[in-house]
Amino acid sequence: MKASAFAYARATSVDNALQLLVAHGQTAKVLAGGQSLMPAMNLRLISPDVVIDIGGLIELKGMAVRGDVLRIGALTRHADLLRSSEVATHAPLLAEAIAHVAHPAIRNRGTIGGSLAHADPAAELPACMLALDAAIVARGSRGERRISAADFFTGIFETALAADELLVAIEVPIAQKNSAHFFHEFARRHGDYAIAGLAAQAVVEGGRFTDLRLAYFALGDRPVLAKAAGKLLNVIVTPALVRQASATLAEGLDPHEDQQASPAMRRHLARVLLMRAVAALLHRPELAGATP
Ligand SMILES: Cc1cc2nc3c(=O)[nH]c(=O)nc-3n(C[C@H](O)[C@H](O)[C@H](O)COP(=O)(O)OP(=O)(O)OC[C@H]3O[C@@H](n4cnc5c(N)ncnc54)[C@H](O)[C@@H]3O)c2cc1C
Repeated sequence: MKASAFAYARATSVDNALQLLVAHGQTAKVLAGGQSLMPAMNLRLISPDVVIDIGGLIELKGMAVRGDVLRIGALTRHADLLRSSEVATHAPLLAEAIAHVAHPAIRNRGTIGGSLAHADPAAELPACMLALDAAIVARGSRGERRISAADFFTGIFETALAADELLVAIEVPIAQKNSAHFFHEFARRHGDYAIAGLAAQAVVEGGRFTDLRLAYFALGDRPVLAKAAGKLLNVIVTPALVRQASATLAEGLDPHEDQQASPAMRRHLARVLLMRAVAALLHRPELAGATP
């Protein structure tokens, strides 16, 4: 199938893109790498009247450390993040997760801003943003605002971005001393969307977690920060404590049923991921054996 007829406008600057968004309102869609938008248009899941191409806006590309954050332009491609020494050094969780996003051909075109604005609940990068406590920078005709990742994802393919706003950058706090990360997903094949996944960022001091952020994906209508992490903070973690934390996971997760897994299966995978994450982050392999 082919997309319905649409008009095409190539933005010449961020300001120009914002003017076009104001002029066309809800009938317009922003085009970044096109790896999610074009399939959706070709399947006629969406049929915008106007496509505003921001792909040539150099001001939205690249990344730099500014103070204690790594600022990543919205148009930075997945492949560039994968190759970046800044990302590897300051946000190693992101570096590890990107390798699981689709396949090289898609990573060569897809952008981080597109992935976050698209807000697929099974996508890896939204969960990483939550685990890293990142801020999403949005710009509209009324100026710029920062939205915490925890407030940005509001539902399936829904975000806090207004129709006349562009996602312009992401600000990721740089990894601090003693920080550790964990990333794992269950998927049918490497590069497929996850059946269940976990992105975790922690600070470990004296064998204890002083900070732990467990962000699950493909386990609800948006990425979810597990409250269960609170049970594991500032204590010596035992197998019994991991089991207790695991038992409370169900409170925050509302997994869906699809052809790949039932909600019960997804909850089970969430518990397995929790145990593996705790064991890996604390370098205590025996904790991975706590019964889920
Ligand atoms: C076969 C296949 C497999 C895939 N597998 C995975 C996977 O395993 N994991 C995964 O996470 N993704 C996967 N993807 C999606 C891929 O990662 C996309 O690249 C990404 O979701 C969107 O980035 P994009 O730059 O292509 O955005 P586009 O497709 O251009 O846009 C996506 C949406 O975001 C909006 N948008 C884009 N940029 C902005 C912006 N700066 N401001 C405001 N709105 C914006 C668009 O209007 C559109 O609604 C897959 C895609 C395909 C085709």
